[in-house]
Amino acid sequence: MSATLKPLPPGSTLGVLGGGQLGRMWAHEAQRMGYNTAVLDPDAHSPAGLVSHHHIHTDYLDAAGLKQLATTCQAVTTEFENVPADALAQLAASLPVSPAASAVAVAQDRAREKAHFVACGVPVAPHAVIDTAEQLAALLTDTAKADNLLPGILKTSRMGYDGKGQLRVTTRDELNAGWAKLGQVPCVLEKMLPLASECSVIIARGRDGAMVNLPVQRNLHRDGILAVTEVFAGNVPEALAIQAITAAKAVAQELNYVGVLCVEFFVLADGHLVVNEIAPRPHNSGHYSQDACDVSQFELQVRTMADLPLTQPRQHSPAIMLNLLGDLWFTHGDTQTEPAWAQVLALPGTHLHLYGKREARKARKMGHLNITAATPEAARAVALQAAAILGIAAF
Ligand code: ATP
Ligand code: MG
Repeated sequence: MSATLKPLPPGSTLGVLGGGQLGRMWAHEAQRMGYNTAVLDPDAHSPAGLVSHHHIHTDYLDAAGLKQLATTCQAVTTEFENVPADALAQLAASLPVSPAASAVAVAQDRAREKAHFVACGVPVAPHAVIDTAEQLAALLTDTAKADNLLPGILKTSRMGYDGKGQLRVTTRDELNAGWAKLGQVPCVLEKMLPLASECSVIIARGRDGAMVNLPVQRNLHRDGILAVTEVFAGNVPEALAIQAITAAKAVAQELNYVGVLCVEFFVLADGHLVVNEIAPRPHNSGHYSQDACDVSQFELQVRTMADLPLTQPRQHSPAIMLNLLGDLWFTHGDTQTEPAWAQVLALPGTHLHLYGKREARKARKMGHLNITAATPEAARAVALQAAAILGIAAF
């Protein structure tokens, strides 16, 4: 361990901006390790606020709320991608904040994010930045360039998540109309790539520059939302896994990143790896680590913010994670019914995580189910049984 790390002692209070499920699972880990937690989130019933010692109900940019968080805590992190980078910058004037506002600002803007990947020498999808009507007009006039990016996906540069703020466009006319439809806000047009699969890597980097990673996760998305993550040896070809981990570490290093970072990749039909985007926090695709690894992504977040040493996590069981979306509460029509948890928990190696959200809505992330087993085949068999019980399509 580097001499520069001065760990925060148990009994210290760790804070988080944002009160969603990621904050809740982080709070559980922080508390297990002897820390108190504080959450700043405007929602009185936020999943993380419900389980924390302190819950400050204000807007993210409320000066009094931020001051209260700064005086209550000895270190602060974020769990919410679109938390105003300004709020982090303000807090950083009085206490350690990880990740830094400057790194979060890059992750919040697709154009800056892509420029960062290019600067790191990591391959990205062919794309064009469309900030203004003039830039769009120039692209539409440059027919060779425009046609090379079509069919493509027009994505708002800021505030997108779970496939929101995206439109598929096949022609220049559709591109023109699409930009108007998205509100003429800054966008990135990305070429639609033939994907063989998707994967992601979670990195943790300490204030002393030490880095560790979770194993490469293979992800299945449905309707732009993560549905299934599978993690076991051999699931991603070894050479690709090494490439992904090396790229993720370069992306973190070049940002001088402190905290947990998820880097998402596309594996193309020809076997090439292309980086998609980063999330400056634990990620849905890393939830399996709670039950399948000796150190979870949330413990890594606690360790980085409390200046505790990082050790390389070890996955001890093959794992599959099923996302539990609000749709599962509506498999019997429009009236809400509780999914058959007891039936699922009767299967060996199932670990249920529910986020305490009061209302199920379609496409809303309500929880996840981790399945661990001695072999990938056994994990898969149980996962498919659980999926059938819950009404999740087979994969
Ligand atoms: P997240 O919830 O991960 O933040 P997001 O809204 O930021 O999602 P992206 O990750 O950009 O959206 O895209 C969502 C999904 O759409 C991807 O996981 C992938 O399945 C598909 N997709 C996005 N861009 C492309 C592309 N250029 N070519 C092919 N498929 C794509
Ligand atoms: Mg994504």
